[in-house]
Amino acid sequence: MKDYIATIGLEIHAELKTSSKMFCSCKNDPDEKKPNTNICQVCMGHPGTLPVLNKEAIKHVLKIGYAVGGSISDFTEWDRKNYFYPDIPKGYQISQYKYPLVSGGSLAGIHLTRIHLEEDTAQSTHDIHHKSLINFNRSGVPLMELVTEPVIHDAETAVRFAKELQLLLRYIGAGEANLEKGEMRVEANISVSKNKVFGTKTEVKNLNSFKAVEKAISFEINRQINLLEKGEKVVQETRGFDENTGTTFSQRLKESSHDYRYFPEPDLPKLKISEVKDFSREELTALTPELPWVKRERYFKDFGMTEKEVAVFVESREIGDYFEQVIKDNPQIIKLSVNYILTDYLGLLKKEGKDILSISSVNFSKLMKMVDQKKLSSRGAKDILVMMIKEDNDPEIIGNENGLIQKSDETEIKKVVEEIISKNPTVIDAYKNGKETALQFLIGQGMKLTKGSANPELLRKLLIDLIKKD
Ligand code: ADP
Ligand code: MG
Ligand code: ZN
Repeated sequence: MKDYIATIGLEIHAELKTSSKMFCSCKNDPDEKKPNTNICQVCMGHPGTLPVLNKEAIKHVLKIGYAVGGSISDFTEWDRKNYFYPDIPKGYQISQYKYPLVSGGSLAGIHLTRIHLEEDTAQSTHDIHHKSLINFNRSGVPLMELVTEPVIHDAETAVRFAKELQLLLRYIGAGEANLEKGEMRVEANISVSKNKVFGTKTEVKNLNSFKAVEKAISFEINRQINLLEKGEKVVQETRGFDENTGTTFSQRLKESSHDYRYFPEPDLPKLKISEVKDFSREELTALTPELPWVKRERYFKDFGMTEKEVAVFVESREIGDYFEQVIKDNPQIIKLSVNYILTDYLGLLKKEGKDILSISSVNFSKLMKMVDQKKLSSRGAKDILVMMIKEDNDPEIIGNENGLIQKSDETEIKKVVEEIISKNPTVIDAYKNGKETALQFLIGQGMKLTKGSANPELLRKLLIDLIKKD
């Protein structure tokens, strides 16, 4: 149905990593397993208590704002968003309405509307006995909300955007942003239309993985097109997503726009960002590491890696930093290191069930140099790598102890070659008569005699030279 254009706008919430909550000194630890441990009168919404702003949370959002090239609101304030729900016992959520910290900017080529800061709600569990339980550990955790313009047109781009935001949050240290853990929550607004006028949108919630984001958007686009094709109308509503069936379902109709009766939070100070030194662009960009998209470009340009290779090094800062340590001052081992890290090292770590790069970058770099200088065969290098993963030792010592260092000493290997020639006259004749495979056999004999320690290239060269001579 090629005539239809899909339009998607995302609303993404992300829990921010700070030591304390947004408006009180309770520990910010959404992982806390024991319910109602990190709580106080403020985050439980007791009357008469006063909120206090968390500077770290504001710094996280400003860093992101600077990174995406958004404009920072010099004047900002917090607002009360009034609604009743058991997980918000104050009867309102403290959020930002009129003056979001960040407006505009773009990420992964998608224009942003705004980024603001608010507080997370408590968590309710509805148990089988028709009882509801409320856990306030999450109540008051700093929550960032980012809204995009309706400028996305397919599910893959929406996923790419969400992944880039996750990466940015992780690089900046603003949050882990795991969708599966609810640290990042994606809501997708979707409409379809045949002309430039926007169609009626639906909003899909409960997307707990990138796969769910992709599936839900694709499903919803098809569902809406099918409705319109049948001459029916799309109803503006909130829909949920069912992982098991890959379908969306109606949750609640949107009766006109909610009236949240927003008004400025009287218990918090208004802020003038330019008056706080810690909030300045200079201070915060100095604290921001190289951004993922800058790093991506540098890896393409400086290391000539493929898109797939770059993705691994950029997605994991740990692996990227490690790689740069390994090749530091040794540009000749770039290609070798990329291959060994991506195919052998990471594969072996996974097999061993290890999730940290357990070999020191110094030892790994030394291993790469030994391969580069042909001191090791690729087989030998892999054997040493396995041993290094078990115990992080100097590859030269391991190589010597296990007889894996390749001999590249001509006189020594020449002796071996002479021995092979004298012991295999029929094979030599066959080779002289044009049987190329005979040479492979002779190299094999040489490797056997040297217990695999001869440099096979040198062995080959000397065999050819010496057989020709006699
Ligand atoms: P609401 O008031 O329903 O929350 P907003 O105008 O605040 O709507 O927009 C919320 C999100 O919906 C934004 O990400 C925006 O880009 C997106 N959006 C707005 N209109 C459409 C549309 N017609 N189709 C798809 N997404 C849309
Ligand atoms: Mg909305
Ligand atoms: Zn508290």
